[in-house]
Amino acid sequence: MSACNSYVVLGSGPTGVSCAAALLKKGLPVTMLDPGIELEPERRAVVRELAKIEPSAWNTRSLAKLKENMTASGKGIPLKYAYGSDFPYRDPGNDQAIKSTNVGIMPSLAKGGLSNVWGSAILPFRQDDMRDWPVTASQLAEHYRSVFQFMPLAGRRDGLEQWFDLYTDRPQPLDLSPQAEAFLNDLQAAQPELAAGGLHFGASRLALQSEQRNGWAGCRYCGQCMYGCPYEVPYNSAATVEHFRSNPNFDYRPGVFVRRLKESSSTVQIDALDLSNRDAITFTAGRVFVACGVLSTTRLIAASLEAFDQPLTLHDSQYFLLPLLRYRKVQDFDKAKSHTLAQVFLEIFDKAIADSGIHLQIYTYNDLFDSALRSMFGPLMPLINGPARAMMSRMLLIQGYLPSGLSPSISAVLSRKGDHEELQLEPIANPTTQRTLRRVINKLTENRHLLRAVPISWMVKPGTPGRGFHVGGSFPMRATPGPLECDRLGRPYGLDRVHIADATNFPSIPATTITLTAMANAHRIGSEAVEL
Ligand SMILES: Cc1cc2nc3c(=O)[nH]c(=O)nc-3n(C[C@H](O)[C@H](O)[C@H](O)COP(=O)(O)OP(=O)(O)OC[C@H]3O[C@@H](n4cnc5c(N)ncnc54)[C@H](O)[C@@H]3O)c2cc1C
Repeated sequence: MSACNSYVVLGSGPTGVSCAAALLKKGLPVTMLDPGIELEPERRAVVRELAKIEPSAWNTRSLAKLKENMTASGKGIPLKYAYGSDFPYRDPGNDQAIKSTNVGIMPSLAKGGLSNVWGSAILPFRQDDMRDWPVTASQLAEHYRSVFQFMPLAGRRDGLEQWFDLYTDRPQPLDLSPQAEAFLNDLQAAQPELAAGGLHFGASRLALQSEQRNGWAGCRYCGQCMYGCPYEVPYNSAATVEHFRSNPNFDYRPGVFVRRLKESSSTVQIDALDLSNRDAITFTAGRVFVACGVLSTTRLIAASLEAFDQPLTLHDSQYFLLPLLRYRKVQDFDKAKSHTLAQVFLEIFDKAIADSGIHLQIYTYNDLFDSALRSMFGPLMPLINGPARAMMSRMLLIQGYLPSGLSPSISAVLSRKGDHEELQLEPIANPTTQRTLRRVINKLTENRHLLRAVPISWMVKPGTPGRGFHVGGSFPMRATPGPLECDRLGRPYGLDRVHIADATNFPSIPATTITLTAMANAHRIGSEAVEL
């Protein structure tokens, strides 16, 4: 096989494996280069030990190990760890040097990327939410379906399907918590009135293997989702990498950090660091698909184009937390076995608030709620235990997202001093964000009798820009791209054999979850690029 016919994918996160899946489906050889940082062996051993037995037999010391470093406060969780470890965000050689002020997003050098910690919430984009894209929702349809050939979807066939196709014929069943069932029942009772006001709802859709199947344990509703699932039920793209390894056309090379891409007429030279000894290494490929995650891809492409000191704009979907107090309590809300990821999706389509949709994920009780209360009330906790429990029996938590047009964005500048390169990130305020948040809260308040719940408006907590990790668009796809933009195959202006395959190429970020569409788009780019 000559270098001109070889395909190299950079990164093993959700978009890297989706792009590789498209290439492998066409029978093409794929090399995946990846720093590939993994969970520390001693923590992995604890996960394996717990996975062999039922939750009722778990010992508290092992469980405490997996819960290390995760606390919640009134502001939420500072940073989500996986099994007590920060490995998804670790950068031992400071190869990703970043200087940021008040920006929440971080890059990953891990095998599986940020899918080691993600919340697995998935919803596709509607055409109405991507009017500025040179790709249509219907052109993505077959690729959403392809993603569900290797990523599971748990959820229900319900009212959400009228707006958001499932793209799979058989979603896996997933039990909801008693608080979520009670909420959904109230929403269902008021469905016509809610729909008339542009409020649509359904059970959450999650990328997880809820059923026991093909060697997977299935969900045991042990409530550990926020800390890292011992049964590895939420989808992690590292598992797809392992699955691909049985394909003779697939070659996974961990321990490689790519620094530059140099294109000639028929090949791309890939300059990288061997992370085991920090020596320079070089690879040659016919085409390169860059799926390093938004910050790393922005850095790599800017460096490869020599676009130093040029301001790029990263679009963000503003994330916020908002408690919702239900009219009625649910008995024994903390006794039921339940998963603790998003339980219900509530979508707002109201042109008076936004031209495109607003996405709300509803969480019900989990033990981080207790930890947040403890951090707020400290030694007073025993005194307020009764009222706190009463409140918790009625409390839901909204994790909401606004579309990028109504959210702050992030300025990204790659600077170089001698050999040192640094990505400087700074928030750019959007004057419409506060107003939109107020309108969302007002909308919920106006509909409180239908929702049978009232938002606690003074407790709304907008995240710092990038904190929701729904970020992209520094090299946006355009029908006719100019400098620092790319074409609909993700090729930055001036390059022919390098394709950006992750959300770095998104023209805008709709409010619904980002990763599923980033994966479908990566699959589309992989499929269409090989026809060139
Ligand atoms: C706490 C948290 C919760 C989230 N929850 C959700 C959710 O519920 N729903 C949702 O849609 N999204 C969610 N996200 C966002 C989601 O995780 C990302 O959108 C997704 O992981 C992006 O996939 P990716 O493949 O583009 O990049 P990443 O997952 O970041 O993977 C990047 C890959 O590239 C590799 N890499 C990096 N630099 C280089 C380099 N220089 N050379 C070679 N390889 C490199 C890394 O090792 C890694 O394998 C969440 C994120 C976080 C942090």
